[in-house]
Amino acid sequence: MTTRIKDFEPGDVRPGDTVVVFGAGDVAQLARHALEAIGVPVSFLCDPLLADDSAALHGTPVLPPAALEQLDPETTCVLDAWDHTRYARQPALLARFDRLFVVVSLLSRTEFGEAAPVLPAERPRRIAHYAALCEPLLTGAGRLRLRSLDVVVTEACTMRCVDCSNLMQYYAHPRHSDLDELHAALHRLLAAVDGVEEFRVLGGEPFANPRAGQVVRTLTGLADTARVVVYTNGTIVPRGDLLESLADPRMLVKITDYGDLSRRHDALCDTLTDHGVAWVSQKPVWTDSGRIGRVDRTSEELARTFRDCCVNDLLTLLNGRLYLCPFSANAMNLGAVPDAADDVIDLRRDWPTDELRARIEALYHRHRPLTACSFCRGRDHTTPMVEPAIQVRRPLPLTVVSGTR
Ligand code: SF4
Ligand code: SF4
Repeated sequence: MTTRIKDFEPGDVRPGDTVVVFGAGDVAQLARHALEAIGVPVSFLCDPLLADDSAALHGTPVLPPAALEQLDPETTCVLDAWDHTRYARQPALLARFDRLFVVVSLLSRTEFGEAAPVLPAERPRRIAHYAALCEPLLTGAGRLRLRSLDVVVTEACTMRCVDCSNLMQYYAHPRHSDLDELHAALHRLLAAVDGVEEFRVLGGEPFANPRAGQVVRTLTGLADTARVVVYTNGTIVPRGDLLESLADPRMLVKITDYGDLSRRHDALCDTLTDHGVAWVSQKPVWTDSGRIGRVDRTSEELARTFRDCCVNDLLTLLNGRLYLCPFSANAMNLGAVPDAADDVIDLRRDWPTDELRARIEALYHRHRPLTACSFCRGRDHTTPMVEPAIQVRRPLPLTVVSGTR
């Protein structure tokens, strides 16, 4: 289907067409703004995360993907502005439509003013990231360029949030990652794929590992690295080599502002600014996605849980192994969910490059739920919201589950 996708030009929409923007995140909001700026009204946003019967975003209705089945394929234009361009996982829904577009050129030539959505500092990054992800859709080349890779530098965190979706609340004896193992695994992975668009350095709390700067330098030192983003909870101000490693034009520090719990937030912002490090600080919004336990679902519901999950392609490198999502990574790393051979790739092994590439491609483009999905509450629009960062004093008891879907 990728050959049918075109880069949108204004003449592609005819009067009376229904224009659907697929997605409702930052790129979709920028796309809607850019379309309306050239006089193309957006009829609907379509997003599995936000849609319900009454959902609307800034006045535009938000439909679930299933609603696409009701639209006339002759008069509908679908503009993919999903930040992850993940609709490769929704082929049955989109196969009906002949006019499928991405909005790469439109976004690149739009002047976004003050009133436009998305933080101004975030816009160029989002647009560039989206353009890079769309390139293989448009050209068919570089098929295995990964959207992002989570590089876990520690299992330790300075907070213990009861609903941490990375499952830090279950670690009784957290360890920092073995950096030799991490670097070896990373280089094996990079030799087998067509690049990684964005590296995300995280933990736990990545600044808890004083050697995390070595990983940051490795990532920013790669020839085709576009971005490296470090995620921190605002409790530690990095010093020395770790701080210096962050002063790279491709670096961004993303601070989650948990209010009083982020006790070094302001000092961290000041230090990063003083050292010329780019940063953004955002308040969190959480779904109830941080507990391990079997969830009763039909096989159809399980398939939908995986399909609509917003992190179902968030590849995660943890302790030398590659997983498709952070929940799966940490649940398996904790030993809570049984190892399933096709859910994980052991990068501590010296694979022939072709075989490793094939395995990564199969994992990354996978359509079937992971074993972990059966024990995960999911991350989509049906997942209830929870109050972020409620702290617990002790690690949560770990129930080792067995059996699969
Ligand atoms: S959600 Fe809480 S426990 Fe999890 S990594 Fe962030 S600060 Fe740490
Ligand atoms: S285990 Fe499945 S449902 Fe849970 S976060 Fe991962 S991909 Fe999503």
